[in-house]
Amino acid sequence: MDIEQFRKAGYAAVDSICDYYANIQNVPVKAQVQPGYLIDQLPTSAPEDGQEFSTIQQDFGKLILPGITHWQSPSFFAYFPSNSTFECMIADMLASSVSNPGFNWICSPACTELEQVVVEWAAKLLGLEKTFWGSSGVGGGVIMGSASDCAFTAGIAARERALRDLALQNGVKPSDKNGQIEIPDTIRNEYSQKLVIYGSTQTHSLGAKTAVMLGLPFRAVPVSIEDNYALTGASLKEAIEADIAQGLIPFLVYATVGTTSTGAVDKIDEIGGVLTNYPTVFLHVDAAWAGVAYALPEYRAPLELNGVNKYADSFCANFHKWGLTTFDCSIFCVKNRKDLTQALDVTPTYLRSKEADAGTVIDYRNWQPALGRRFRSIKLWFVLRSYGVKGFQQHLLRGIEHCQQLEKIVKQSSKFEIVTPPSLALIVFRLNPAKSQENANIDDDELNLINQKLFTALDLRYDIFLTQTVLHSKERNMFVIRLAMGGVHTKFSDVENAWRIVEEEGEKVLSEWKA
Ligand code: PLP
Repeated sequence: MDIEQFRKAGYAAVDSICDYYANIQNVPVKAQVQPGYLIDQLPTSAPEDGQEFSTIQQDFGKLILPGITHWQSPSFFAYFPSNSTFECMIADMLASSVSNPGFNWICSPACTELEQVVVEWAAKLLGLEKTFWGSSGVGGGVIMGSASDCAFTAGIAARERALRDLALQNGVKPSDKNGQIEIPDTIRNEYSQKLVIYGSTQTHSLGAKTAVMLGLPFRAVPVSIEDNYALTGASLKEAIEADIAQGLIPFLVYATVGTTSTGAVDKIDEIGGVLTNYPTVFLHVDAAWAGVAYALPEYRAPLELNGVNKYADSFCANFHKWGLTTFDCSIFCVKNRKDLTQALDVTPTYLRSKEADAGTVIDYRNWQPALGRRFRSIKLWFVLRSYGVKGFQQHLLRGIEHCQQLEKIVKQSSKFEIVTPPSLALIVFRLNPAKSQENANIDDDELNLINQKLFTALDLRYDIFLTQTVLHSKERNMFVIRLAMGGVHTKFSDVENAWRIVEEEGEKVLSEWKA
């Protein structure tokens, strides 16, 4: 493709994107295809001769779009939203136009410096204190592809920090004037397998996954309904003390602000208070979904921002969920950048540069497991400048308002109940015939079965998309349904429509159950 062909194809692509968005509310949110639909339509190997680009471009509409689940549809209420905006589409295109892997400052100074600047904008927008800002010279932030990557990176940093502490306690002396500690194999071998990670039964699978990747155990501390599924300081303390009594070494806690299942907020203040007795334990706060809501000052206290600022070693918020930024854009901020660089800086000669040697620049490869990295900051830069703080806040408030309006409707229902207090833009509910007196003695297992039936019915539909979850607690396990708002194109009439469908399907399930 030459420049003029690109110009033409590029305009055509923008036209088809505009058509897609102009019609998105009329397209069923879920893909109506069966497994293998695309594999069956594509050749088994790449074509020998190059093909006309216009034919290839048409195939996107013909073959790919039918298999797309429309996350930007106003009727998408599953998982959490994955906002996309036109600003980001343009940003991604521009980033591709200068495609480079940006691992060192010298690879493209703009990539590193824009990231430094916008991550600090984001940290300030969310109310993270100066200790997390790059301009502090001690802390700082980086953009990663996912909250899971942030958690894994925090895990590596925490493990290496714990082993360095153990080396120091065992008399190992710093190997240079900067106080760098080399962890001897003897220390690594003796202690590595004693390290333990903590979270709760509500922690995203990233906790257990990091544990698998590090080859260490993950303690999923139980939560209770009484605490709204939040991890408490007392439960964490009990788990930590039990492990210490067995000769094990707690080194990392994953606390969550806005859990996946119910949007619960772990008791960060209590957890931090407990960890003051174990100062070498690393606290990572996963605020993947709810973190952007710190942009609303009135939500900072209920989301325990003070605790985050006071106690967390690292923090993550996904702007690619509810934060108007097209996937992928996870903000990962740390209070001490050396926690990352002392674990991840591996510098052969071919990666050195005079600027890095002089200590005047950041080489982001030393803040993450991978070497190469995408130019993600340009998306966030475009979003924060286009929307401004006020526009960003209005977007969040719209999702929260939809949730509050829906809450009123569900509360009036004689058949449905809200299971946990709605969190920001997330409602968790279930059908409960016991709400009407005549069926008052229905048991937990039967309730779960009824709600599984309801979810199966909803899941067979293509016009709305909701997700299920099971809430594990000390008291009982509950099968429930989640409805997550906050889509860029969602209006309250779309929420009302979704709820009407839920009620209709609920009626059918109930009439079958009674029969
Ligand atoms: N943490 C929480 C609380 C989440 O809800 C999710 C995804 O929904 C994640 C982490 C995982 O995010 P990512 O896909 O960016 O790894």
